[in-house]
Amino acid sequence: MEKNTIIELKIEDYTTEGFGVGHAEGMAVFVKDAVIGDELKVKIVKNKKTYAYGRIEEILRPGADRVAAPCPSARACGGCQLQMTAYPAQLRWKEDKVRNCLQRIGGFKVPPTGEPAEASKNAADTQTCPASEGAADTQACLAEAGGYDLDAFLPVIGMEEPWHYRNKAQLPVRADKEGRPVAGFFAGRTHSIIEQKDCRIGQKDNQEVVDLVLGWMQQQKIAAYNETTGSGLIRHICMRSGYATGERMVILVLNRRESVLGKHLGRKLEALADQLMKLEGMTSVILNYNAEKTNVIYGRSFETLRGRDVIEDTIGEVRYQISARSFYQVNPIQTQKLYAAALEYAGLTGKEKVWDLYCGIGTISLFLAQKAKEVYGVEIVPEAIEDARKNAALNGITNAQFYVGKAEEVLPKLRREQGIEADVIVIDPPRKGCEEIVLQTMLDMAPERIVYVSCDPATMARDLKILCGGDYHLSRVQPVDMFPHTTSVENVCLLTKKHGMEIKG
Ligand code: SAH
Repeated sequence: MEKNTIIELKIEDYTTEGFGVGHAEGMAVFVKDAVIGDELKVKIVKNKKTYAYGRIEEILRPGADRVAAPCPSARACGGCQLQMTAYPAQLRWKEDKVRNCLQRIGGFKVPPTGEPAEASKNAADTQTCPASEGAADTQACLAEAGGYDLDAFLPVIGMEEPWHYRNKAQLPVRADKEGRPVAGFFAGRTHSIIEQKDCRIGQKDNQEVVDLVLGWMQQQKIAAYNETTGSGLIRHICMRSGYATGERMVILVLNRRESVLGKHLGRKLEALADQLMKLEGMTSVILNYNAEKTNVIYGRSFETLRGRDVIEDTIGEVRYQISARSFYQVNPIQTQKLYAAALEYAGLTGKEKVWDLYCGIGTISLFLAQKAKEVYGVEIVPEAIEDARKNAALNGITNAQFYVGKAEEVLPKLRREQGIEADVIVIDPPRKGCEEIVLQTMLDMAPERIVYVSCDPATMARDLKILCGGDYHLSRVQPVDMFPHTTSVENVCLLTKKHGMEIKG
């Protein structure tokens, strides 16, 4: 296919980046802003050997699920790749994506979507599976008798109201062509800024903060950061909020080293902070100093100008203190559902020793600690472990311990040197999934249950295959939509230990 050729294309799928995918002349063609089902006239803009990129010239017939994006900036921003796809269709696509990964990468035979009871109805002969061997083994046997590897592939948990869910926003501030300060997002891969108002997935009241700061900049003649010359003051406006508490934090990132903020400027900033503190729910105004030429948002030093250093939020019964820099799940409503599923799958009675690998600030660990005997968290980022310990103390949780280090080093070492044990292991690895040694050590530790929380279904399916090649049965997979309008999908899976029961197929 030559560059600039016009072809007709039907969109069948999305890439992880949110491009529509169609096939023409045996090649995959990737098209931005295309929706599954669309029949398009497409111009080829880039041609590689086995695939091509195209641009929409004309929508011949829109797909049944194509909708107008509610956000006028959706196409330019690129933060919400799927805003032009109706939400129920987004959910269907996410469910299919997980199912495909389990089948193609994991090699699992996945039952139709539904509860375990529905799946076991499909069992060819329930007589082959005696109930006496323990519930988990009976489930496994029923699944196998039905021709499936899983007891249940559950319907994706979506949001009732899939908007305004993000509790964190980080908007760069730059001058527009007229020299006016604007806050928004960078256009494509450039550093020119497009103004954004009322982000549909951010908090509704973020805009009043942005308006106040930009108005103050104009009034006080405070310049926006210019990355070419390194001049100007305001680099970013960042906002965080506690969903359950309504507490709000603003962090202004300044193009200064801490020591060189003069008295005059200091006073102006304090006046702005006083204004910000009058907004409903505002509990912290914080300055961050970053004079480096870098894309990293925060510099090392933070200074609380007004209010507290942290905001609080609760998930279930657990309180969390979140500082400007702390990692915290961005969709609190869905996080609660995800953790509730993880807790249910952990099946805790109060007697268990639980390991939480890749524990971050201990959100899952503390959630589990309420129902377990002991919880041990492992995490590579030392500051996250500091937060985890603080949050444990804040909640009076004394049965959680945290280790700093790589899961692939800490877990095998502790097993070798201290012969540690586990009744339940929960893992929530980053996108690349687990190192094989982590999976192997888990198999050696042989807990009754493994709960695998994942943000990447492909690496998850790869890891589940290894665990199920050992002594584990994949009982349930529960997709959760943590990021509506994006292509990402989280999952929580339950694996149960097989007890060597004969399965008559
Ligand atoms: N369970 C947490 C965070 C999960 S995100 C929550 O729900 O909030 C994955 C975490 O794994 C991150 O905190 C990251 O810093 C950590 N991580 C990445 N690689 C790691 C490794 N090799 N060993 C341990 N932790 C790691």
